[in-house]
Amino acid sequence: MQKYQVAIVGGGAGGMFCALRLADAGIKDVILLERNDRLGRKLSVTGNGQGNISNEQMSPEHYFSDDLSRVRRVLDFFGKRQLIEYLTALGGLFVSDETGRIYPASRQAASVTDVLRFALSNRGTVIRLNTYVNSASKKNGRFLIVSGEEIISTDYLVLCNGGCAASYLGTDGNGYELARAFGHTISALSPSLVQLKTEQAPIRGLKGVRSECLLRLFRRDAACADFYGDIIFTDYGISGNAVFRASSFVRAEDEISIDFLPKFGEKELKELLAEKAEKYPVFPAEDLLRCIVNSSIGKCILRRCGIGLQSLIRDIGSKIPVIVSMLKGFRLKVLGTMGFDNAQVTKGGVYMRELDEGLMSLKVENLYFGGELINVDGECGGYNLQWAFSSGAVVANSISERIKNADR
Ligand SMILES: Cc1cc2nc3c(=O)[nH]c(=O)nc-3n(C[C@H](O)[C@H](O)[C@H](O)COP(=O)(O)OP(=O)(O)OC[C@H]3O[C@@H](n4cnc5c(N)ncnc54)[C@H](O)[C@@H]3O)c2cc1C
Repeated sequence: MQKYQVAIVGGGAGGMFCALRLADAGIKDVILLERNDRLGRKLSVTGNGQGNISNEQMSPEHYFSDDLSRVRRVLDFFGKRQLIEYLTALGGLFVSDETGRIYPASRQAASVTDVLRFALSNRGTVIRLNTYVNSASKKNGRFLIVSGEEIISTDYLVLCNGGCAASYLGTDGNGYELARAFGHTISALSPSLVQLKTEQAPIRGLKGVRSECLLRLFRRDAACADFYGDIIFTDYGISGNAVFRASSFVRAEDEISIDFLPKFGEKELKELLAEKAEKYPVFPAEDLLRCIVNSSIGKCILRRCGIGLQSLIRDIGSKIPVIVSMLKGFRLKVLGTMGFDNAQVTKGGVYMRELDEGLMSLKVENLYFGGELINVDGECGGYNLQWAFSSGAVVANSISERIKNADR
């Protein structure tokens, strides 16, 4: 049986960062266990391969959790500024775009993984790849970590297994089982930052069309949240920025309403269309919306208003109010999400209320959790990686404090 002071399960963003911070604090007897054949597979594909690691607008309002004040304290301890300073000191260069998303200047997510990997390579941390942790328990004050035939014994155990989004990258939700085995409760799990399945008939002909819209979520006919951004129509429903953000809230049976022209009021649009109708009475109906919305969206709107594309503009003047209502409130029923495998994160996880300030279990001493495994998920825009890094840093700090206090 091999013995170490600390074992970290999961060589993703949270696990790698925790290992680095432990090494910085002088805790060298650490083993990092990763089931994949390389570290940070998920980190390397984030942000469409560009690695959106944080956000200029970093604050707890962009997160969901059973304890947002704790999320605030974790971010206060190690937030955006500390992360960028730290990664810059490791040799990276970071830039933010006009919306505040922070990326490596290389615009390559894999280069962030490399910076962490290089830094880890000369700090004494033992890195074991292709090592799947099947189970873990605690006996006589030590953790026994089982991987195949092998048992590893440690004083401290950190679970950074990730959630169950994108299982093809190694995260199939097994971390929740390890947590349950230690007596932890897991909140309801659902995919988040994911595309939505919707009814198909109303969006026929729109596949591939992208539009900057206001998406309003309706539950039992009451508007409950607004999301501004891109919507992309697909053969299963809708994708895009606004949709990803809405997916954190949405439930099957909700309805969404799309405002294709959020910057223009109904009155203004009615006047514009009435004027156009007067100018071009014998043009085909679809020309009424030309240069106002994407032509496929225009045709779709007319179809949903019961207007044939062969009609002439002069014959549809009375329908202008209905057309404007459809432009400003295109309703669609949500049928569900595209599931965990298409999601970027898992909503839910190990309850924060079962962890102390250092993210140590309140049930099992010296057992820690980091990253997505905890019941914290962020909006789209770098919030989830920041959480993984920040929580990894908090865990490392707590472990090193405990080790130092025990040595005194
Ligand atoms: C396609 C995609 C794009 C994303 N883009 C962004 C983005 O741009 N910005 C952002 O902030 N967030 C993004 N995210 C979310 C972000 O990547 C995750 O929230 C973050 O990586 C979570 O970090 P983690 O360390 O908790 O888990 P992970 O990074 O998922 O790492 C967990 C690791 O544990 C390993 N593991 C699991 N179980 C075991 C076991 N039993 N034994 C050994 N190893 C195990 C896994 O193989 C994995 O390597 C994206 C996610 C996806 C899927």
